[in-house]
Amino acid sequence: MDFEQSAKSRDYTKRVRQFIKEHIAPIEKQHWDEIHEQRHGGDWKSWRIPDHVEKLKAMAKAQGLWNLFLPDPELGAGLSVLDYAPIAEETGRSLMAPEIFNCNAPDTGNMEVLWKYGNAAQKEQWLKPLLAGEIRSVFFMTEPDVASSDATNMRATAIIEGDEIVLNGKKWWSSGVGDPRCKIGIFMALTPNEQLGRHSQHSMVLVPMDTPGVSIERMLPVFGDYDEPHGHGEVHFKNVRLPLGNVIAGPGRGFEIAQGRLGPGRIHHCMRCLGAAEQGLDLAIARGMARTAFGKPLLNLGGNRERIADARIAIDQARLLTLYAAWKIDKVGPLQAMTEISAIKVVAPNVLQSVTDMAMQIHGGAGMSRDTPLSGFFAQARSLRLADGPDEVHKGVIARIELAKRGYSK
Ligand SMILES: Cc1cc2nc3c(=O)[nH]c(=O)nc-3n(C[C@H](O)[C@H](O)[C@H](O)COP(=O)(O)OP(=O)(O)OC[C@H]3O[C@@H](n4cnc5c(N)ncnc54)[C@H](O)[C@@H]3O)c2cc1C
Repeated sequence: MDFEQSAKSRDYTKRVRQFIKEHIAPIEKQHWDEIHEQRHGGDWKSWRIPDHVEKLKAMAKAQGLWNLFLPDPELGAGLSVLDYAPIAEETGRSLMAPEIFNCNAPDTGNMEVLWKYGNAAQKEQWLKPLLAGEIRSVFFMTEPDVASSDATNMRATAIIEGDEIVLNGKKWWSSGVGDPRCKIGIFMALTPNEQLGRHSQHSMVLVPMDTPGVSIERMLPVFGDYDEPHGHGEVHFKNVRLPLGNVIAGPGRGFEIAQGRLGPGRIHHCMRCLGAAEQGLDLAIARGMARTAFGKPLLNLGGNRERIADARIAIDQARLLTLYAAWKIDKVGPLQAMTEISAIKVVAPNVLQSVTDMAMQIHGGAGMSRDTPLSGFFAQARSLRLADGPDEVHKGVIARIELAKRGYSK
């Protein structure tokens, strides 16, 4: 095992850190204040993107700090998953940064799908503008009416009729659908075929958001916050007709694509969690040393120093596990690294949640406000313990593999 960062990755990490320090950190608080001031609750049609976002994106792109997640050397930075880890960690320190470098979810996962499985026409029409940062995208998998942690429960349908595919069903927690720049969705649904097995019954279909029959019914708040201008929507599909050419890789290949999509995408979230946790630890120490109670800095009271040590231990353990999972994906591919991917998918959000909780506590009332990014990090961590599969489902995967190694198949 070798987790050594390449010179190229070290250079990108340094430049991303510097860019965030110079251009993002100084305006980040103002950015979120602006978004929350123009807030209209769940009325997503009035959500707007502040002008500085596109300016910063153009600046990052001009400096080559763009699409760093994509292993393709022509379309992206050509970095291995291991080499991308420290860069994603840097961007995770800020809630705003990932988008500025065109390295934000769910677009990265959707771009990876199109890059790996899309045909030339699909790449031209949708991958190109996504890579250019001109449009944004959404991934429609979870459904309100069934337990979606088991994807075989899915009820939405994608039925072939001649040279068209017809979509029906309801999806929710569709992240990014409220963004006025969101133009394309990847819709996963049942395409029943008795000739094929249980995992060949689903298709992934590209759905332009302005297709007749697609309607955003509402935005779902996370802890009362609509996460504007991104948003998590409930979207209904009623007799949505699209050319068969909109199916990615062909009907019935949805599960196969989902495995590929969620592998590296899941681990990108984990890398960003580490950056957020480091930022939380920095803030906890700064606050705890600067503020005094009962005659001492807060950090010197009670068990607070021990809590700082626990946070350091937990973050470093999580980083090693993340790097191990990244290294394994590079070596043997995501399907052979399922234990490691599931393990870090459980560990990283939980570490972020506990470190952020500690940092919020040291901040007292301020920790609950928007004066720091801590409440945003907490919502991110708590959401990630569900999004891309709940903790329990990932533990189930790990246990199944462990049992199978010992000959137990049930
Ligand atoms: C902020 C946010 C953003 C999201 N973004 C997206 C998105 O962009 N696109 C998308 O399609 N989905 C998205 N999701 C949805 C997310 O992926 C689902 O919520 C998740 O997969 C769980 O599905 P469910 O909500 O139907 O829960 P259910 O399937 O009803 O599960 C509920 C609970 O049951 C328990 N459980 C389930 N299975 C097991 C098991 N095997 N063992 C033990 N306990 C179990 C777990 O505690 C689980 O949390 C998002 C969710 C959130 C909160």
